[in-house]
Amino acid sequence: MGFGGYQGTILRVDLGNKQFKEHPIPKEWIRDYIGGDGFAAKILFEEVPPECRPLDKENKLILATGPVTGTSWPTSGRSAFFSKAALTGIWGESHVGGFIGPELKYAGYDLLVIEGRCEKPVYISIEDSDLQLKDASDLWGEMTDTTTSRVRRLEGDPDTQVAAIGPAGEHGVRFSSIIVNYARAAGRTGMGAVLGSKNVKAIAIRGRGAVQVNDHEAFVELAKQAHRRTRENPQAQEMSKWGTWSLTATKQEIGELPTYNHRTGVFSGWEKISAGYIRPRYTVSDRACFGCTIGCKKVNYIKEGEYAGTLEEGPEYEGLMAFGSSLGIDDYPTTLKANEICNKYGMDIISVGTTIAFAMELYEEGILTTEDTGGLELEWGNKKAAIQLLEMIGEREGLGELLSQGSKNAAEAIGPEAEQYAMHVKGLEVSGQDGRTHRSIGLAHATAARGADHLRSLVTVDQLGYEDVAAKRWGKDKLPEIIDPYTEKYKAAAVVETENAYCIRDTLIVCWYSVSWPPIFWMEDFAELLPLVTGIDEFGSVDNLNLIAERQVTLKRLFNAREGITRADDTLPRRFTKDPMPEGPGKGQTVDLDPMLDAYYRRRGWDKETGLPTDKIIKNLSLDWTRDFMN
Ligand code: SF4
Repeated sequence: MGFGGYQGTILRVDLGNKQFKEHPIPKEWIRDYIGGDGFAAKILFEEVPPECRPLDKENKLILATGPVTGTSWPTSGRSAFFSKAALTGIWGESHVGGFIGPELKYAGYDLLVIEGRCEKPVYISIEDSDLQLKDASDLWGEMTDTTTSRVRRLEGDPDTQVAAIGPAGEHGVRFSSIIVNYARAAGRTGMGAVLGSKNVKAIAIRGRGAVQVNDHEAFVELAKQAHRRTRENPQAQEMSKWGTWSLTATKQEIGELPTYNHRTGVFSGWEKISAGYIRPRYTVSDRACFGCTIGCKKVNYIKEGEYAGTLEEGPEYEGLMAFGSSLGIDDYPTTLKANEICNKYGMDIISVGTTIAFAMELYEEGILTTEDTGGLELEWGNKKAAIQLLEMIGEREGLGELLSQGSKNAAEAIGPEAEQYAMHVKGLEVSGQDGRTHRSIGLAHATAARGADHLRSLVTVDQLGYEDVAAKRWGKDKLPEIIDPYTEKYKAAAVVETENAYCIRDTLIVCWYSVSWPPIFWMEDFAELLPLVTGIDEFGSVDNLNLIAERQVTLKRLFNAREGITRADDTLPRRFTKDPMPEGPGKGQTVDLDPMLDAYYRRRGWDKETGLPTDKIIKNLSLDWTRDFMN
């Protein structure tokens, strides 16, 4: 096709007709959308109409890579799944590490689009150009780890990369995930349920090709520099040692460690779920995804006690929050056990933990009783009850049936008295941040396409003290307000520019760590990298990259608008906007969302009243074609 970095081919599998088809990637897609998120947005917008519900066979699931996937660029082992989300019914995406993205590229494909539904369980087998649907009846009902091992044996090659669902995905648990190679989770928005609804148990990929870049010599030199910059970065070195666990102490110090279902931001038991406590006692090895210099993954082992013998990767900070402080649990072995169950069943630990926290608060308020819980005493910190409820959710049994629909749907089923305790935005459970102590994340949670999302536009430099980086990005004149986490001023500017940069990150597709935190690579680095990889000179312009990012953010917004999303949905749980933080450094703080929303829409060129893209911005971004697909 003439562009470096791409294989130039989309592989489509039509499950109903049991057919594989290859399609060339149109050149204009590359120029307008680069790859990854951009291609997925284009396909889902054109091919998944609003009348299609997430678990209908007409919904599509995409595994996407970007132009640097599988090269020697740092963290280029990432890939992502996209679909109309099972949990929220709107735009869904979930990025994942490991090795499966490079393997897809080496097999000769940039994207895999899964369409239709099989009558019987299958797994998709891709071994270079050998493409098959193989019977998975015997695998149905198995946990993800057993599935992965068995599929590898069936494929006869230990280097086969496997993405699998567990019982949660089979049962249609709305926040079920796809687990790649035992422990890497495409966790959020319910991609596992979409795959399960298609009767696909796993995807097995083995590729033996290579990825050609446009200017090999210059690319290798730049990649070497990038690895050096990452290796020499002090925060990246900290990340290598502690993973994301160091955030527990940081969040506690600034009063933003979600505790008791986000009721407060300080947790008396924080030390027992912190890096300094966990690593010396439990960590047995470090791991990295393909091509990563950082290696933030930690494998941990429980020697004694109730969960003795548990050997599992993770959980990251978000898991420590969701199955630790948020439930009032200060016991790392319980949190590791919960992570193991989430990985085996294939469930998102953030959503399931936050949904259990919601149930615990309802129990405290007397809205749920032991009659509803099947005898479980859902008191804060009740470790055994939390683990039992987690398994009930994976099986959709008892109270687990209701909670498996996510906190928004469960709250609607219970009644209006429950809704204020459901910590979600657009149906996606809130991650481990709090807009009261970090205003820009309040805006990010409210506006992100997939709901309360901490990965698409979370500004880190304003909260973690990167004053010099903030000055460089947004101008010294915006200091000190832009790095003051307690003021709304300038936060829309920070969120929009961050969202644009992350958007390009997610078209490449590279890791959050090293772009977002620590802030090593930014737009100017992508502008230097992309022409060397692709040979497309226009990608060397930061202005052009910003335009491409704006196009993608607006396209996702239009996808959601077609599903009925408006400004009224760009909101936060009332706890963040009405209930002042009760204690800690952020005591008394709430989020004033409206002024930030006004400024965000203005910058995006969206209508302030409706939150919808205007005709003018649709035209300016060359998105006129979307009119043919709007209702
Ligand atoms: S930083 Fe962590 S998540 Fe990112 S690519 Fe490296 S090991 Fe994977």
